Amino acid sequence: MAGKTALITGITGQDGGYLTELLLGEGYAVHGMIRPTAVLRGSRLEALGLAHPGRVVLHNADLTDTSSLAALVEKSAPDEVYHLAGQSHIQVSFDLPEYTGETTALGTLRLLEVIRRRGDRVRFYLAATSELFGEPEMSPQTEATPLRPVNPYAAAKLYAFSLVGAYRRAYGLHASCGILFNHESPFRGESYVTRKVARAAAEIAAGRATELVLGNLEARRDWGYAGDYVQAMYMIVQADTSDDYVIATGESHSVRELCEQAFAHVGLDYRDHVRQDPGLFRPVDISETRGDARKARERLGWAPRVAFPELVRMMVDAEVERVARCDCSGDRD
Ligand code: NAP
Repeated sequence: MAGKTALITGITGQDGGYLTELLLGEGYAVHGMIRPTAVLRGSRLEALGLAHPGRVVLHNADLTDTSSLAALVEKSAPDEVYHLAGQSHIQVSFDLPEYTGETTALGTLRLLEVIRRRGDRVRFYLAATSELFGEPEMSPQTEATPLRPVNPYAAAKLYAFSLVGAYRRAYGLHASCGILFNHESPFRGESYVTRKVARAAAEIAAGRATELVLGNLEARRDWGYAGDYVQAMYMIVQADTSDDYVIATGESHSVRELCEQAFAHVGLDYRDHVRQDPGLFRPVDISETRGDARKARERLGWAPRVAFPELVRMMVDAEVERVARCDCSGDRD
């Protein structure tokens, strides 16, 4: 609705870019938190044409610094806060568990406290994750599936997720969580498997590389398109009542299928180029995630629009274009 102001933390990330585009289209004034070290050149915001002054207002702040978060909320005076920022990589969370807790868990506490203390009627959204379910005993996973994190990233998100529920009940905040399953796009960080596979297919097809070495090819994930998932975030925040929602496609595909479709799209057989290295398996690897987004469908009217084969083609096509432009620097993740 016109006239509203949104604050996005994590605006330089994959989802931040898509969400900014959506909210500007809805007539919002968009403010974003960036770290003082952020480099906008080559970022998703720039690629989407959103980094120009005047389109979004960017503020320096950091999740580890409460005073910067207080100033951020004061200056932006948001109606809605979309809290997407945090250390979001699982493998990195094993390497930097304390930092992951500081940003993803305590950073959420700091931000919620700033909002609560101001007493404004701000709507708050937290980017939660299917990683909360750990190695689930039932499939597909719903809002009722037990939460049993198996990595430091998910443990930090569980703390943040629990806080949102606590603040909703204790203080009556309109605070909601999207329990989002994996979602991808050409702007996915380069360290994620979908992006690695898309890039390798394009580079190998162009004769710039010969091999891709991956971890567990049999791991199955429920992969959706980031553009669809930011639409869900927006719908969650617009709902009259705050609540938590699983956002997923309901289908899972293996990394092997991902490789097969991505390489086939550029006329290659992945078996000639992809090698599995057990040394790259995670300390604890979840064999399958698959979500049931029935609640979001029934209460919000949300449904994914981009199916897996189209998503894979979109990502490979973007990499083919990048390789053709010799722009192999990509983004910064
Ligand atoms: P992303 O691309 O990794 O973006 C993370 C964002 O957080 C970046 O803007 C990053 O800023 C910012 N950030 C990291 N540490 C920070 C700190 N200390 N202070 C301030 N900002 C900080 O993540 P994404 O894929 O867009 O995902 C958005 C959110 O959804 C994340 O919280 C992620 O955990 C969650 N999520 C994602 C998925 C998925 O499949 N994509 C699934 C479930 C949940 P810099 O640019 O400065 O690094």
